Amino acid sequence: MQVHTHTYDVVVIGGGGAGLMAALYASKSAKTAVVSKLYPTRSHTGAAQGGIGAALGNLEEDHPEWHAFDTAKGSDYLGDQDAIEFMCYQAPEIVYELEHMGVPFDRTPDGKIAQRPFGGHTNNKTGKPVRRACHAADRTGHMILQTLYQQNLRQGTHFYNEFYVTDILFHEGRVAGVVAYELATGDLHVFRTKAAIIATGGWGQLWEVTSNAKTLTGDLPAVLLRRGLPLEDMEFFQFHPTGIFKLGILITEGVRGEGGVLINDLGERFMEKYAPTVKDLASRDVVSRAIYIEVREGRGIGGGKYVYLDVRPETVNKYARIDGRTRPDGSPYEVTKEELLAKLPDIIDFCKTYLGIDPMEEPIPVQPTAHYAMGGIPTTLKAEVIRDEQNTVVPGLYAAGEVACVSVHGANRLGTNSLLDIVVFGKVAGQEAAAYVTHADLPPLPADATDRTREQLERLLHGTGGEKVADIVSEMKEVMTEHVSVFRTEEGLTQALEKLQELKERYKRVSITDKSKRFNLELMEAWELGNMLDLAYVTALSALNRTESRGAHWREDHPKRDDQNWLKHTFIWLEDGKHRFAYKPVVITKWQPKERVY
Ligand SMILES: Cc1cc2nc3c(=O)[nH]c(=O)nc-3n(C[C@H](O)[C@H](O)[C@H](O)COP(=O)(O)OP(=O)(O)OC[C@H]3O[C@@H](n4cnc5c(N)ncnc54)[C@H](O)[C@@H]3O)c2cc1C
Repeated sequence: MQVHTHTYDVVVIGGGGAGLMAALYASKSAKTAVVSKLYPTRSHTGAAQGGIGAALGNLEEDHPEWHAFDTAKGSDYLGDQDAIEFMCYQAPEIVYELEHMGVPFDRTPDGKIAQRPFGGHTNNKTGKPVRRACHAADRTGHMILQTLYQQNLRQGTHFYNEFYVTDILFHEGRVAGVVAYELATGDLHVFRTKAAIIATGGWGQLWEVTSNAKTLTGDLPAVLLRRGLPLEDMEFFQFHPTGIFKLGILITEGVRGEGGVLINDLGERFMEKYAPTVKDLASRDVVSRAIYIEVREGRGIGGGKYVYLDVRPETVNKYARIDGRTRPDGSPYEVTKEELLAKLPDIIDFCKTYLGIDPMEEPIPVQPTAHYAMGGIPTTLKAEVIRDEQNTVVPGLYAAGEVACVSVHGANRLGTNSLLDIVVFGKVAGQEAAAYVTHADLPPLPADATDRTREQLERLLHGTGGEKVADIVSEMKEVMTEHVSVFRTEEGLTQALEKLQELKERYKRVSITDKSKRFNLELMEAWELGNMLDLAYVTALSALNRTESRGAHWREDHPKRDDQNWLKHTFIWLEDGKHRFAYKPVVITKWQPKERVY
């Protein structure tokens, strides 16, 4: 393998919303490169539909304080409240910043940024849903991503696209470089750098039914585990309640924000039972569990594993009347087909394309879909990666976006808070890295810079054991879906760990058929599988370890939240096949944990 060397002040790993925001800020003063597995505008941020949360109060009373409280409550009190307050108070300013960069938000009749309700976002006085999600139709993420990319091009950020980062190099504990595999040539690239910002997104590909893109395989968290660094709160993975049945493609919560309702086989709007005040707009963990229970008790549609999401105008208007929902001017809320078509064009299109149904005429079959990683690489409020529960910073290493755990989402993320998180903490990471490199010198590269990457790739290229990547992937997804999803038990998690251990052994005997240098996607998929197996393993271990139910982590054998023993973050290390746990207290500023009532 040929090796090329480059030198930068800051290397951003990942070209999604977090990476591009970080690059935009870092490249104002530092020589910055973005190294991305995908062409940046193909990143998963571009799939985000519903909106970005900010208490602008454009349509009704709202306050950053309410946003922060809702986020803390939605997190089932596991979110760190200093980070939550910081993010929610930054939100209005950063949305206006995006607007000024050129994001074409939808508008109110008087020209302000339009907002819609979303799950878990409430008026703190009445407990009713509040319009807090700023949107550009149902393509908000797409608009943000395109805008950030264009701003980076204007500013001269360097891009290395379709480069897979395979390793991070350290010198005396500081970041010294980043190693990447170039898909087009099969060459290796070593980026000497003073600072690296990890912004590689989530890992929904661990499960069978997922809203996540194919590339979301958790590569960098796995790289850090191998480098002896910990991951935080890996047991908390969000299942979004409304994925298209079997396909997992996301139907945004914005559909329920516009008045869509969930219906079971008896034709009941069942969320009334589970969340009497906010109903279909309860937070995601609550709605996903409700769907599972309906299905389990035989009220899935036709006895199947799905329910209906009904957004036909007549249904929306019927339930809006029952709920007494009004428009901002106080008039009754009533929608027409044309209005829904304008607000949800992509969703309607997906249903027509992938299901052959028109949501204006028929209800949409939905089931929970693996969606979002609340846990990840632990960081400080300044996006610095930490090496332990004492907040010891790894100099020069930053993480932001879905891959990071600050933690603003705790045990359960509210919709619209991820687009917010990626721009707020992407910006912080860019600013902090740029400041750090002004006083840090360029560390020397270790002599064995590419050894680990070569060893991993050559083992895969030359393996003759006969195990197939596709078999191991599907068995991993099956066991994660069966035992490490919405409901969990000690027995199921133990079985999952045994199976994952077996798969990890079999992975050592993987063989691939394509040995070529150019565009060897088979090689890269085999490498990604190794990362997914490590993350699946620490997810199941952390889930077995946490003997309580909180947010997205629901243990049927420990169905209560246990603040006495578990109001704390999990840190897990995986070194030479052995794991170790440690814990960090949750930061509580204002809101003592209470029972969550919706
Ligand atoms: C269908 C869908 C709809 C959503 N809707 C909303 C919404 O309405 N509101 C909201 O707030 N949130 C939403 N979310 C969540 C939100 O979009 C994501 O959490 C967020 O966009 C993640 O951004 P990111 O920058 O952290 O990562 P991503 O946008 O996923 O980008 C990751 C980047 O890392 C790169 N990368 C990965 N591995 C490597 C590697 N080994 N080497 C180099 N580069 C690598 C990829 O190329 C990519 O550029 C949605 C998510 C999905 C899946």
